[in-house]
Amino acid sequence: SMASPALLMRVVASAYSVAEKAATIVRNVMSAGDLGIVEKAGPSDLQTKADRLVQMSICASLARKFPKVTIIGEEELPNDDVSEDLIEDGHCEEILKKPCPAQYTGIKEEELVIWVDPLDGTKEYTEGLLDHVTVLIGIAYGGKAIAGVINQPYYNYEAGANAVLGRTIWGVLGMGAFGFQLTEAPAGKHIVVTTRSHSSALVNECITALNPDHVIRVGGAGNKIIQLIEGKASAYVFASPGCKKWDTCAPEAILHAVGGKITDIRGNSFQYNKEVKHMNSAGVLATLRNYDYYASRIPNTVKESLVP
Ligand code: AMP
Ligand code: MG
Ligand code: MG
Repeated sequence: SMASPALLMRVVASAYSVAEKAATIVRNVMSAGDLGIVEKAGPSDLQTKADRLVQMSICASLARKFPKVTIIGEEELPNDDVSEDLIEDGHCEEILKKPCPAQYTGIKEEELVIWVDPLDGTKEYTEGLLDHVTVLIGIAYGGKAIAGVINQPYYNYEAGANAVLGRTIWGVLGMGAFGFQLTEAPAGKHIVVTTRSHSSALVNECITALNPDHVIRVGGAGNKIIQLIEGKASAYVFASPGCKKWDTCAPEAILHAVGGKITDIRGNSFQYNKEVKHMNSAGVLATLRNYDYYASRIPNTVKESLVP
């Protein structure tokens, strides 16, 4: 008989189904029409009923199946008393059938850290820019992002009634990433994707210094990594603090699984062990290809303004 699947594959297979349940919650809260918006640090740092329900759903569902895994979610919420209708106990059978990369077969529950952004792109969600929104579940081991799930609940929402709404992208280092068509950005063009709702003088100074052919301003860290792996943009550049570990963990795993690279603006890799500071204080630089081209053009004055 077959050996039982490795823990990592069981976690990814469950995270896939948990993220699909999350997407349903995100869509249901929007259709019900009462977003229950709460300001956290200020008017550009929002939490909605969807952020709250999805975080409870993801964290409680994964904690029930994997009680010794450390789970860190963006929202500060009590995690007891989660209503049963928020629990997802399914998993994706197709993921479970795939062999776990050899270097990860011995991982134990207490060695995993899961970083959860229940709704990335909340500001855009409240403004009706629905395809900017993603649900992010990142899985870290030994301080590294090794697997991730990105659900885009409103993928295809402008494509007409016959199009399937929403999609789930997932990946594991050493295995690859699935649920989308890997596409290179146009050759010889420099297309930078950056924040739409968290700009600053430094963010813009950094982009100007790169002299891009085109700048795309959209919400969400998950959404911007999707722009890279689908060839819409050649670099994600964000010279500002503000982005957190739950924003980058799942995107990093998926980008690295297809040969891309993400660091802070100074070129340092991110760490995802449970003790790490949440804020990515020195910003984000990510590419699918040609990382060195962009890294070498970030001005020293910009690097020196951002302290890790
Ligand atoms: P953005 O590209 O602006 O959508 O930001 C990507 C992620 O980082 C989102 O989860 C934002 O909420 C978060 N973020 C970036 N900058 C800030 C900021 N100044 N304050 C709060 N959150 C931020
Ligand atoms: Mg976020
Ligand atoms: Mg969020």
